[in-house]
Amino acid sequence: MATVLLESVNKRFPDGTQAVTDVSIEIEDQEFLVLVGPSGCGKSTTLRIIAGLEGSTGGVVRIGGRDVTHVAPKDRDIAMVFQNYALYPHMSVYKNLSFGLTLRLNRLFGGGVLGRGLRKIFQPRRASEFVRQRAEIGNKVRRTALRLGIEHLLDRKPHQLSGGERQRVALGRAIVRNPAAFLFDEPLSNLDAKLRQQLRVELKRLHRDLKATMIYVTHDQVEAMTLGDRVAIMNEGRILQVGGPLEVYQRPANLFVAKFIGNSPINLCPGTVCRVGDRFEFESRIPMTWGPDSPRFDRLVALLDGVSGSRSVVVGFRAEDVGLAESEGEIEVEVTEVDRLGESTMVHSRVCGPPTRGTKEDKFVQKNTIEQMVLFRLKSDAECALGDRLQVKIDLDCVLWFDPDSGENLLKE
Ligand code: ATP
Repeated sequence: MATVLLESVNKRFPDGTQAVTDVSIEIEDQEFLVLVGPSGCGKSTTLRIIAGLEGSTGGVVRIGGRDVTHVAPKDRDIAMVFQNYALYPHMSVYKNLSFGLTLRLNRLFGGGVLGRGLRKIFQPRRASEFVRQRAEIGNKVRRTALRLGIEHLLDRKPHQLSGGERQRVALGRAIVRNPAAFLFDEPLSNLDAKLRQQLRVELKRLHRDLKATMIYVTHDQVEAMTLGDRVAIMNEGRILQVGGPLEVYQRPANLFVAKFIGNSPINLCPGTVCRVGDRFEFESRIPMTWGPDSPRFDRLVALLDGVSGSRSVVVGFRAEDVGLAESEGEIEVEVTEVDRLGESTMVHSRVCGPPTRGTKEDKFVQKNTIEQMVLFRLKSDAECALGDRLQVKIDLDCVLWFDPDSGENLLKE
């Protein structure tokens, strides 16, 4: 297995589309890295550049320390699994799995059926080596099929398989080659939700068993979070952040990452923060106060050092950072929607009280300031109905601050 290194990789298509801009990342040996981002952000192009299916217009690609920037795909020692399986329709599962290896074996020994027949007579040792290696391919195929639970399907053709079985065959075809790295381009997106979840678990197990370097492209943040040792979030051709799943969730580099990662949308509230004595007051539809005993107070002091008057910020907090308040005087919200999810209840609400106006130049003021929404999670059997008025509180420990213009996370260490 191998490390995969991208150094300042760029891709501009002939029509002028800049698909990838200055992408640098090191994927460690045996790491599972997920490239995630919205449609068109350049993740497939990046993967295809690693595979050699697309040439870059700048930068270097190294696999296992070797510069492969100008090396043909077949000589890069990688295997790629696509969304559409790409199986040979006229071949059995066995042949689909063994095809690449058999082709290589035949190239190595050459001569076709007639040649091999003649060799049996004139080069018996070479002929027996051929037979030995062919048997080894058979064993490898059967071992792989067993590992993927498709050993009973080896005689079937792809059209006789379900979507999940076809994707297992596609996976198997990559595994038998024992490549330096596996590249996956949305391999599960054609499958239904339940099967996707099942195959995700299997992929994780495979990754552990094979001790393989894997790079996986998806637009699905749940897939990214559950599969990746690390997750690289891309937008508009650039990598915005690389980190462990929890790190990118709890400490997003910027607003884009904060909004993209997470099952339910992050709550955002624009406002201004100013120093009042030894405290910081956040003036907005959701007022908050940080005193010297508050979490990360030192960071706020450093951030606002030298700022006279107030500073515009967008405060962000997750649904799970909002809870019901035990006393009055916290934030009062009116329930606008209740989603009963089974394991929990998502409550959509709007902050009560007269709307306030933000400054015109604040990008995030818009609808939010006029009607500040708050999404939060309660127990599954929580008594809560449309129109209810509730007192809620926000865990200041988890609140994030973003710059309204650049979107940068202002409190990130
Ligand atoms: P998706 O999830 O929809 O597959 P993606 O993040 O994988 O999206 P890419 O397929 O890498 O995105 O495309 C990145 C950008 O490059 C897009 O704007 C796309 O339209 C553009 N693009 C892709 N292939 C070509 C091409 N051959 N010629 C011109 N532009 C292209």
